[in-house]
Amino acid sequence: MKRIYLDYNSSTPLDERVIEAMNQYLKKFGNPSNLHSFGREMREGIEVARKKVANFLNCQPEEIFFTSGGTEANNWAVKGLAFKRLSEGKKGHLITTAIEHASVLNAAQFLERLGFAVTYLMPDGKGWISPEKVEESLREDTFLVSIMHSNNEIGTLQPIGEIARILREREIFFHTDAVASAGKIELNVKELGVDGLTISAHKLHGPKGVGALYLRKGTEIENLIHGGHHELGLRSGTENALGIVGFGKACEISQEEMAKVVPKIRDLRDYLEEEIEKRIPDILFNGHREKRLCNTSSVSFGYIEGEALLMNLDLEGVAVSSGSACAAGEVSHVLKAISLPPEFLNSTVRFSLGRENTKEEIDYTLSVLERVVKRLREISPLRREEKWKR
Ligand code: PMP
Repeated sequence: MKRIYLDYNSSTPLDERVIEAMNQYLKKFGNPSNLHSFGREMREGIEVARKKVANFLNCQPEEIFFTSGGTEANNWAVKGLAFKRLSEGKKGHLITTAIEHASVLNAAQFLERLGFAVTYLMPDGKGWISPEKVEESLREDTFLVSIMHSNNEIGTLQPIGEIARILREREIFFHTDAVASAGKIELNVKELGVDGLTISAHKLHGPKGVGALYLRKGTEIENLIHGGHHELGLRSGTENALGIVGFGKACEISQEEMAKVVPKIRDLRDYLEEEIEKRIPDILFNGHREKRLCNTSSVSFGYIEGEALLMNLDLEGVAVSSGSACAAGEVSHVLKAISLPPEFLNSTVRFSLGRENTKEEIDYTLSVLERVVKRLREISPLRREEKWKR
Protein backbone atom coordinates (compact mmCIF):
# COMPACT_ATOMS: atom_id res chain seq x y z
CA MET A 1 0.00 0.00 0.00
CA LYS A 2 1.03 3.56 -0.74
CA ARG A 3 2.04 5.39 2.46
CA ILE A 4 1.73 9.16 2.57
CA TYR A 5 3.17 11.18 5.40
CA LEU A 6 1.35 14.42 6.20
CA ASP A 7 2.48 14.84 9.78
CA TYR A 8 5.70 16.84 9.51
CA ASN A 9 4.85 18.92 12.59
CA SER A 10 5.15 15.74 14.66
CA SER A 11 8.49 14.72 13.21
CA THR A 12 10.40 14.63 9.91
CA PRO A 13 12.47 12.03 8.08
CA LEU A 14 16.25 12.28 8.43
CA ASP A 15 17.86 13.99 5.46
CA GLU A 16 20.25 11.67 3.58
CA ARG A 17 23.00 14.26 4.01
CA VAL A 18 22.36 14.33 7.76
CA ILE A 19 22.68 10.54 7.83
CA GLU A 20 25.96 10.82 5.94
CA ALA A 21 27.30 13.42 8.38
CA MET A 22 26.27 11.30 11.37
CA ASN A 23 27.74 8.18 9.79
CA GLN A 24 31.14 9.77 9.89
CA TYR A 25 30.85 10.00 13.66
CA LEU A 26 29.12 6.70 14.32
CA LYS A 27 32.34 4.83 14.96
CA LYS A 28 34.14 7.62 16.75
CA PHE A 29 33.82 7.24 20.48
CA GLY A 30 36.15 9.64 22.29
CA ASN A 31 34.76 11.73 25.10
CA PRO A 32 34.58 15.29 23.77
CA SER A 33 35.88 16.59 27.11
CA ASN A 34 39.17 14.71 26.71
CA LEU A 35 42.27 16.48 25.47
CA HIS A 36 43.66 13.54 23.47
CA SER A 37 43.02 13.11 19.78
CA PHE A 38 40.02 10.82 20.34
CA GLY A 39 38.35 13.49 22.43
CA ARG A 40 39.40 16.33 20.18
CA GLU A 41 37.83 14.83 17.06
CA MET A 42 34.49 14.59 18.88
CA ARG A 43 34.86 18.12 20.23
CA GLU A 44 35.48 19.38 16.74
CA GLY A 45 32.29 17.74 15.47
CA ILE A 46 30.29 19.43 18.23
CA GLU A 47 31.84 22.86 17.77
CA VAL A 48 31.41 22.81 13.99
CA ALA A 49 27.75 21.93 14.56
CA ARG A 50 27.39 24.72 17.12
CA LYS A 51 28.58 27.21 14.51
CA LYS A 52 26.04 25.89 12.02
CA VAL A 53 23.18 26.17 14.50
CA ALA A 54 24.37 29.67 15.46
CA ASN A 55 24.48 30.66 11.79
CA PHE A 56 20.98 29.33 11.32
CA LEU A 57 19.73 31.63 14.11
CA ASN A 58 22.13 34.51 13.45
CA CYS A 59 23.81 34.47 16.84
CA GLN A 60 27.24 33.66 18.31
CA PRO A 61 28.22 30.00 18.82
CA GLU A 62 28.69 30.71 22.58
CA GLU A 63 24.99 31.58 22.72
CA ILE A 64 23.91 28.07 21.63
CA PHE A 65 23.38 25.45 24.34
CA PHE A 66 22.64 21.91 23.27
CA THR A 67 19.90 20.05 25.11
CA SER A 68 18.05 16.75 24.81
CA GLY A 69 15.38 18.41 22.67
CA GLY A 70 12.73 21.10 22.60
CA THR A 71 11.09 19.91 25.78
CA GLU A 72 14.24 20.33 27.85
CA ALA A 73 15.13 23.67 26.26
CA ASN A 74 11.66 25.04 27.04
CA ASN A 75 11.76 23.70 30.59
CA TRP A 76 15.18 25.20 31.09
CA ALA A 77 14.26 28.65 29.78
CA VAL A 78 11.15 28.91 31.95
CA LYS A 79 12.38 27.22 35.14
CA GLY A 80 16.00 28.33 34.84
CA LEU A 81 15.00 32.00 34.86
CA ALA A 82 12.60 31.43 37.76
CA PHE A 83 15.17 29.45 39.77
CA LYS A 84 17.62 32.31 39.32
CA ARG A 85 15.06 34.58 40.98
CA LEU A 86 14.59 32.07 43.78
CA SER A 87 18.34 31.92 44.35
CA GLU A 88 18.20 35.70 44.89
CA GLY A 89 15.37 35.27 47.39
CA LYS A 90 12.71 36.55 44.99
CA LYS A 91 9.69 35.13 43.20
CA GLY A 92 7.64 37.18 40.76
CA HIS A 93 5.37 37.07 37.74
CA LEU A 94 5.68 35.45 34.34
CA ILE A 95 3.50 35.61 31.27
CA THR A 96 2.82 32.87 28.78
CA THR A 97 -0.14 31.84 26.62
CA ALA A 98 -2.88 29.24 26.83
CA ILE A 99 -1.74 27.68 23.54
CA GLU A 100 1.88 26.84 24.36
CA HIS A 101 3.37 23.39 24.04
CA ALA A 102 3.00 21.28 27.19
CA SER A 103 6.69 21.74 28.01
CA VAL A 104 6.09 25.46 28.61
CA LEU A 105 2.58 25.17 30.05
CA ASN A 106 3.41 22.48 32.56
CA ALA A 107 6.65 24.17 33.57
CA ALA A 108 4.67 27.36 34.25
CA GLN A 109 2.09 25.43 36.26
CA PHE A 110 4.88 23.85 38.28
CA LEU A 111 6.23 27.34 39.05
CA GLU A 112 2.77 28.40 40.22
CA ARG A 113 2.91 25.58 42.76
CA LEU A 114 6.21 27.06 43.97
CA GLY A 115 4.55 30.42 44.54
CA PHE A 116 5.21 32.27 41.26
CA ALA A 117 2.35 34.18 39.65
CA VAL A 118 1.54 33.22 36.06
CA THR A 119 -0.68 34.91 33.46
CA TYR A 120 -1.89 32.66 30.65
CA LEU A 121 -2.89 34.94 27.78
CA MET A 122 -5.85 33.89 25.66
CA PRO A 123 -5.52 34.18 21.89
CA ASP A 124 -8.19 35.50 19.55
CA GLY A 125 -10.29 33.11 17.46
CA LYS A 126 -7.41 32.65 15.02
CA GLY A 127 -4.89 31.77 17.69
CA TRP A 128 -3.16 35.16 17.59
CA ILE A 129 -1.84 36.94 20.68
CA SER A 130 -1.91 40.72 20.48
CA PRO A 131 1.14 42.67 21.68
CA GLU A 132 -1.25 45.05 23.50
CA LYS A 133 -2.51 42.16 25.58
CA VAL A 134 1.04 41.32 26.57
CA GLU A 135 1.71 44.94 27.49
CA GLU A 136 -1.49 45.20 29.55
CA SER A 137 -0.55 42.09 31.52
CA LEU A 138 2.87 43.31 32.59
CA ARG A 139 3.45 43.85 36.29
CA GLU A 140 6.14 45.52 38.32
CA ASP A 141 7.57 42.08 39.13
CA THR A 142 7.24 40.45 35.66
CA PHE A 143 10.61 38.87 34.92
CA LEU A 144 9.81 36.49 32.06
CA VAL A 145 7.55 36.23 29.03
CA SER A 146 7.45 33.00 27.01
CA ILE A 147 5.35 33.02 23.84
CA MET A 148 5.68 30.50 21.03
CA HIS A 149 6.88 31.70 17.63
CA SER A 150 4.21 29.66 15.87
CA ASN A 151 1.65 27.19 17.03
CA ASN A 152 2.31 23.56 16.12
CA GLU A 153 -1.38 22.63 15.87
CA ILE A 154 -2.93 25.47 13.88
CA GLY A 155 0.19 27.17 12.52
CA THR A 156 -0.58 30.75 13.63
CA LEU A 157 2.53 32.95 13.77
CA GLN A 158 2.84 35.35 16.68
CA PRO A 159 4.04 38.99 16.52
CA ILE A 160 7.30 38.12 18.25
CA GLY A 161 9.24 41.17 17.02
CA GLU A 162 6.61 43.62 18.29
CA ILE A 163 6.34 41.91 21.65
CA ALA A 164 10.13 41.90 21.94
CA ARG A 165 10.25 45.66 21.47
CA ILE A 166 7.78 46.18 24.31
CA LEU A 167 9.75 43.91 26.62
CA ARG A 168 13.20 45.18 25.69
CA GLU A 169 12.38 48.66 27.01
CA ARG A 170 11.49 47.12 30.35
CA GLU A 171 14.36 44.65 30.41
CA ILE A 172 12.07 41.66 30.75
CA PHE A 173 13.49 38.37 29.47
CA PHE A 174 11.64 37.15 26.38
CA HIS A 175 11.75 33.50 25.39
CA THR A 176 10.10 31.99 22.33
CA ASP A 177 9.48 28.35 21.50
CA ALA A 178 10.34 28.24 17.79
CA VAL A 179 10.24 24.45 17.45
CA ALA A 180 7.34 24.47 15.00
CA SER A 181 8.79 27.34 12.96
CA ALA A 182 12.32 26.08 12.38
CA GLY A 183 12.89 25.23 8.75
CA LYS A 184 9.63 26.85 7.64
CA ILE A 185 10.36 30.51 8.23
CA GLU A 186 13.54 32.44 8.85
CA LEU A 187 14.56 32.63 12.51
CA ASN A 188 16.91 35.52 13.15
CA VAL A 189 17.26 36.16 16.88
CA LYS A 190 18.76 39.62 16.32
CA GLU A 191 15.88 40.75 14.12
CA LEU A 192 13.31 39.14 16.38
CA GLY A 193 14.90 40.75 19.41
CA VAL A 194 14.36 37.74 21.68
CA ASP A 195 16.60 36.77 24.62
CA GLY A 196 15.93 33.03 24.46
CA LEU A 197 14.74 30.71 21.69
CA THR A 198 14.13 26.97 21.47
CA ILE A 199 14.56 24.69 18.46
CA SER A 200 14.54 20.91 18.04
CA ALA A 201 16.45 18.88 15.45
CA HIS A 202 13.82 16.29 14.58
CA LYS A 203 11.42 18.90 13.25
CA LEU A 204 13.85 19.91 10.51
CA HIS A 205 15.10 16.58 9.18
CA GLY A 206 17.59 16.04 11.98
CA PRO A 207 17.71 13.32 14.64
CA LYS A 208 15.43 12.99 17.67
CA GLY A 209 16.65 13.70 21.19
CA VAL A 210 18.64 16.82 20.47
CA GLY A 211 17.69 20.48 20.54
CA ALA A 212 19.11 23.84 21.43
CA LEU A 213 18.39 26.83 23.57
CA TYR A 214 19.70 30.15 22.32
CA LEU A 215 20.54 32.39 25.26
CA ARG A 216 21.55 35.98 24.69
CA LYS A 217 25.10 36.54 25.91
CA GLY A 218 25.21 37.39 29.59
CA THR A 219 21.82 35.83 30.47
CA GLU A 220 21.67 34.94 34.13
CA ILE A 221 20.01 31.56 34.35
CA GLU A 222 20.11 28.69 36.82
CA ASN A 223 21.00 25.18 35.73
CA LEU A 224 18.34 22.58 35.32
CA ILE A 225 20.94 19.84 35.12
CA HIS A 226 23.86 20.15 37.50
CA GLY A 227 27.13 18.32 37.08
CA GLY A 228 30.33 19.00 35.19
CA HIS A 229 31.61 21.84 33.11
CA HIS A 230 29.75 21.01 29.88
CA GLU A 231 28.02 23.75 27.89
CA LEU A 232 29.81 26.49 29.86
CA GLY A 233 28.82 24.72 33.08
CA LEU A 234 25.16 25.53 32.48
CA ARG A 235 23.97 22.19 31.09
CA SER A 236 25.95 19.22 32.28
CA GLY A 237 26.34 15.78 30.78
CA THR A 238 28.58 14.28 28.11
CA GLU A 239 27.25 15.74 24.89
CA ASN A 240 25.12 13.75 22.46
CA ALA A 241 27.85 14.27 19.87
CA LEU A 242 26.29 12.16 17.13
CA GLY A 243 22.93 13.89 17.47
CA ILE A 244 24.55 17.32 17.63
CA VAL A 245 26.53 16.65 14.43
CA GLY A 246 23.29 15.68 12.68
CA PHE A 247 21.50 18.72 14.10
CA GLY A 248 24.20 21.06 12.76
CA LYS A 249 23.99 19.53 9.31
CA ALA A 250 20.18 19.75 9.32
CA CYS A 251 20.37 23.48 10.19
CA GLU A 252 22.91 24.09 7.45
CA ILE A 253 20.75 22.36 4.83
CA SER A 254 17.62 24.11 5.98
CA GLN A 255 19.29 27.51 5.80
CA GLU A 256 20.51 26.83 2.26
CA GLU A 257 17.29 25.37 0.93
CA MET A 258 14.44 27.05 2.78
CA ALA A 259 13.80 29.70 0.12
CA LYS A 260 13.35 26.96 -2.47
CA VAL A 261 11.36 24.52 -0.37
CA VAL A 262 8.87 26.83 1.36
CA PRO A 263 6.96 28.07 -1.73
CA LYS A 264 6.56 24.50 -2.95
CA ILE A 265 5.14 23.35 0.38
CA ARG A 266 2.86 26.39 0.65
CA ASP A 267 1.46 25.77 -2.85
CA LEU A 268 0.68 22.17 -2.00
CA ARG A 269 -0.93 23.11 1.33
CA ASP A 270 -3.05 25.79 -0.37
CA TYR A 271 -4.09 23.33 -3.06
CA LEU A 272 -5.10 20.82 -0.39
CA GLU A 273 -7.24 23.45 1.36
CA GLU A 274 -8.86 24.75 -1.83
CA GLU A 275 -9.85 21.24 -2.86
CA ILE A 276 -11.15 20.31 0.60
CA GLU A 277 -13.32 23.42 0.53
CA LYS A 278 -14.65 22.54 -2.94
CA ARG A 279 -15.33 18.91 -2.25
CA ILE A 280 -16.41 18.65 1.39
CA PRO A 281 -19.22 20.63 3.06
CA ASP A 282 -19.47 21.51 6.78
CA ILE A 283 -15.85 22.16 7.48
CA LEU A 284 -13.87 24.83 9.31
CA PHE A 285 -10.26 25.87 8.78
CA ASN A 286 -8.51 26.79 12.00
CA GLY A 287 -5.74 29.29 12.57
CA HIS A 288 -4.84 32.60 11.00
CA ARG A 289 -5.29 32.71 7.20
CA GLU A 290 -2.23 34.85 6.48
CA LYS A 291 -0.01 34.86 9.57
CA ARG A 292 0.51 31.14 9.41
CA LEU A 293 3.18 28.50 8.86
CA CYS A 294 3.49 27.49 5.20
CA ASN A 295 2.89 23.79 5.82
CA THR A 296 0.09 23.52 8.36
CA SER A 297 -3.62 23.04 7.84
CA SER A 298 -5.94 22.36 10.75
CA VAL A 299 -9.38 21.35 9.54
CA SER A 300 -12.52 20.54 11.52
CA PHE A 301 -14.96 18.20 9.80
CA GLY A 302 -18.44 18.59 11.25
CA TYR A 303 -20.34 15.53 12.51
CA ILE A 304 -17.37 13.17 12.70
CA GLU A 305 -14.74 12.27 15.26
CA GLY A 306 -11.24 13.42 14.38
CA GLU A 307 -9.77 10.19 15.74
CA ALA A 308 -12.08 8.06 13.59
CA LEU A 309 -11.08 10.09 10.58
CA LEU A 310 -7.41 9.75 11.46
CA MET A 311 -7.68 5.96 11.84
CA ASN A 312 -9.60 5.58 8.59
CA LEU A 313 -7.09 7.69 6.71
CA ASP A 314 -4.30 5.64 8.22
CA LEU A 315 -5.94 2.43 7.00
CA GLU A 316 -5.68 3.89 3.51
CA GLY A 317 -2.04 4.85 4.03
CA VAL A 318 -2.42 8.55 4.86
CA ALA A 319 -0.81 9.71 8.11
CA VAL A 320 -2.21 12.84 9.74
CA SER A 321 -2.57 13.93 13.34
CA SER A 322 -5.59 14.80 15.43
CA GLY A 323 -3.81 17.69 17.13
CA SER A 324 -0.28 17.42 18.35
CA ALA A 325 1.51 14.11 18.85
CA CYS A 326 2.23 15.07 22.45
CA ALA A 327 -1.44 15.48 23.31
CA ALA A 328 -2.83 12.46 21.46
CA GLY A 329 -6.10 11.27 22.92
CA GLU A 330 -7.04 14.52 24.65
CA VAL A 331 -9.19 17.40 23.45
CA SER A 332 -6.73 19.98 22.20
CA HIS A 333 -6.10 22.87 24.61
CA VAL A 334 -5.30 25.00 21.56
CA LEU A 335 -8.67 24.39 19.89
CA LYS A 336 -10.41 25.07 23.19
CA ALA A 337 -8.47 28.32 23.60
CA ILE A 338 -9.54 29.60 20.16
CA SER A 339 -13.16 28.90 21.18
CA LEU A 340 -13.87 26.40 18.47
CA PRO A 341 -17.61 25.55 18.62
CA PRO A 342 -18.06 22.44 20.80
CA GLU A 343 -19.45 20.37 17.92
CA PHE A 344 -16.13 20.83 16.11
CA LEU A 345 -13.82 20.28 19.06
CA ASN A 346 -13.41 16.56 18.58
CA SER A 347 -13.60 16.59 14.83
CA THR A 348 -10.32 18.17 13.87
CA VAL A 349 -7.31 16.80 12.04
CA ARG A 350 -4.02 18.48 11.32
CA PHE A 351 -2.33 18.09 7.96
CA SER A 352 1.28 19.20 8.14
CA LEU A 353 3.19 18.95 4.89
CA GLY A 354 6.88 18.70 4.14
CA ARG A 355 9.34 18.92 1.32
CA GLU A 356 8.97 15.27 0.27
CA ASN A 357 5.24 15.58 -0.49
CA THR A 358 4.03 15.64 -4.08
CA LYS A 359 0.88 16.77 -5.87
CA GLU A 360 0.05 13.12 -6.60
CA GLU A 361 0.11 12.42 -2.88
CA ILE A 362 -2.21 15.33 -2.17
CA ASP A 363 -4.58 14.17 -4.92
CA TYR A 364 -4.63 10.67 -3.47
CA THR A 365 -5.23 12.11 0.01
CA LEU A 366 -8.12 14.22 -1.26
CA SER A 367 -9.85 11.30 -2.90
CA VAL A 368 -9.50 9.16 0.22
CA LEU A 369 -10.59 12.03 2.45
CA GLU A 370 -13.70 12.75 0.41
CA ARG A 371 -14.73 9.10 0.51
CA VAL A 372 -13.96 8.55 4.20
CA VAL A 373 -15.68 11.73 5.38
CA LYS A 374 -18.79 10.83 3.39
CA ARG A 375 -18.87 7.32 4.85
CA LEU A 376 -18.29 8.45 8.41
CA ARG A 377 -20.98 11.08 8.12
CA GLU A 378 -23.48 8.53 6.83
CA ILE A 379 -23.09 6.49 9.98
CA SER A 380 -22.63 9.43 12.32
CA PRO A 381 -25.14 9.70 15.20
CA LEU A 382 -24.25 13.41 15.35
CA ARG A 383 -25.43 13.84 11.77
CA ARG A 384 -28.66 11.98 12.50
CA GLU A 385 -29.35 14.17 15.51
CA GLU A 386 -28.75 17.26 13.43
CA LYS A 387 -31.14 16.10 10.70
CA TRP A 388 -33.78 15.27 13.31
CA LYS A 389 -33.58 18.79 14.72
CA ARG A 390 -34.00 20.43 11.31
N1 PMP B 1 7.49 22.84 21.24
C1 PMP B 1 6.69 22.56 20.19
C2 PMP B 1 5.88 23.67 19.59
C3 PMP B 1 6.62 21.27 19.68
O1 PMP B 1 5.81 20.99 18.64
C4 PMP B 1 7.41 20.25 20.28
C5 PMP B 1 7.38 18.83 19.76
N2 PMP B 1 6.11 18.30 19.57
C6 PMP B 1 8.23 20.58 21.35
C7 PMP B 1 8.24 21.89 21.80
C8 PMP B 1 9.09 19.56 22.04
O2 PMP B 1 10.19 19.23 21.28
P1 PMP B 1 10.90 17.80 21.46
O3 PMP B 1 10.05 16.80 20.74
O4 PMP B 1 12.25 17.97 20.83
O5 PMP B 1 11.01 17.54 22.92
